[in-house]
Amino acid sequence: MRKVFPVISRSLSHVCSLKPYKETKWLMPNGNPTGAYIYNCVADQKVPVILNDPHIATWYSCGPTVYDSAHIGHASCYVKLDIIQRIIKSFLNIKLVTAMGITDIDDKIIKKGLETKTHFQNIAKQYEHEFWLDMSSLNIEKPLIITRVSEHINSIESFVQKLIDTEMAYVTMDGSVYFDTTKYPSYGKLQRAQTEGEAANEEKRNKTDFALWKGHKPDEPSWNVKWGKGRPGWHIECSAMVSKVFGSQIDFHAGGIDLQFPHHENEEAQSCAYHNTRQWANYWIHVGHLHVKGDTKMSKSLKNTISIPELLKSHSADVFRMACLTSSYRYPMEYSSEVMKTAEEVLNKFKFFLKDAFIYVNNNAVSNGDYKDKILDDLQKIEEANIEALKNDFNTAVCINNLLTLVSNANKVIRLDTSEYYPVPIVLIAEYVTDMLTKFGLKLQESAQDSVLSNSLIDTLVEFRHTVRLNALSRKDKEVLQACDIVRDKMKKMKVQINDSNKTSSWVSVK
Ligand SMILES: [Zn+2]
Repeated sequence: MRKVFPVISRSLSHVCSLKPYKETKWLMPNGNPTGAYIYNCVADQKVPVILNDPHIATWYSCGPTVYDSAHIGHASCYVKLDIIQRIIKSFLNIKLVTAMGITDIDDKIIKKGLETKTHFQNIAKQYEHEFWLDMSSLNIEKPLIITRVSEHINSIESFVQKLIDTEMAYVTMDGSVYFDTTKYPSYGKLQRAQTEGEAANEEKRNKTDFALWKGHKPDEPSWNVKWGKGRPGWHIECSAMVSKVFGSQIDFHAGGIDLQFPHHENEEAQSCAYHNTRQWANYWIHVGHLHVKGDTKMSKSLKNTISIPELLKSHSADVFRMACLTSSYRYPMEYSSEVMKTAEEVLNKFKFFLKDAFIYVNNNAVSNGDYKDKILDDLQKIEEANIEALKNDFNTAVCINNLLTLVSNANKVIRLDTSEYYPVPIVLIAEYVTDMLTKFGLKLQESAQDSVLSNSLIDTLVEFRHTVRLNALSRKDKEVLQACDIVRDKMKKMKVQINDSNKTSSWVSVK
């Protein structure tokens, strides 16, 4: 393994100047710096992303517990993680090996099975199937590796056995196994342990000790293991499955902010103990919650959830993704009609520009070959600024703003008199905008019901209206202009929004 120590560039030194790393419990990995910085809760600051292999990184996301339908809280978490994965792949040029664990054995799944007189595995299969359909409808890339607890009982058993053998864990009277947190001095490195820990249990030696294995109870599925009968605890599954796939260390480990404690804390503790290492996950990524406006938190028990199919009835996957792109992944995000309307307006600005650019390049004007260097300079500056923003903790909001500025300047050029015609820079900007947005996972497609025929009919109508309108404008014919406005309003009701200018009329379909 080649060891390269990172050089912190002057321009990014501000992002990691809070405190020296040696004062935190985060250990800077040896390896190849990517030039990117990411917030890490163990260091409580942004830290440089350094990979063992310069071109390959490993990633694990804690997946859902499959006992019910996913809601928009899950949607925002997994869309934001999908955006970060796409940035690592497309902008840092790293091959990312992604894995996700599915919790298909759990109290809630067993409870639902008993309530509905259905085998717990059927409950899990049904909701896992639904989960992947929901993820696909949001254009989230499927992980390369999917691990299910029920398929990894052997790995979990040998993981727990080793912790018992090394006296990091102990077996209780009821056949449960607990991790002894007093034997792991760094316990609380992600987030200081709260004394409530898990539910009170007389058999636990310390309040923060947590169950690796739950002793058998009647009516519950169970597996025979060396120390008795029972089923895995929640935290152990991710550690055992990650270790089976990736070995003793992982680059990125992600999940919602609610998993930071105790779930990820416990994962790190038991994995470091198992592998006899000081750091198991080098980079923890936690996504902030989605709040429905007016509510403090969305949860099944509060009955204030919105399912993913419900979300997609009122907003396209692209609009929802744009709302995610314009917020910071680490902080809470509000879900409201205003937030979604703003996201749709931003998306439409890009769609209108791309259509206008297409019409502009294909119009009858003749270029004198001038590239209008000022626009090309601006394009280059924005390309560089966007890379810097993405390398600074995946700041997509800055990128979207930069792209809007670029589009606004390009629109001014498009609207110049035909004697000043600059197709080359406009094509380059349109190409760059399309490239960036598709790399962020936007589809930029019209809705599925639009056929080629209806598109060309709308094109014809919009062109005809544009010609009529320009004539009416030059003649100051109010009646015809009014008729044009009526056509525009009627088309908006049919979900076709027309954008008028003196040079072109373009349209986009809207929800
Ligand atoms: Zn997990």
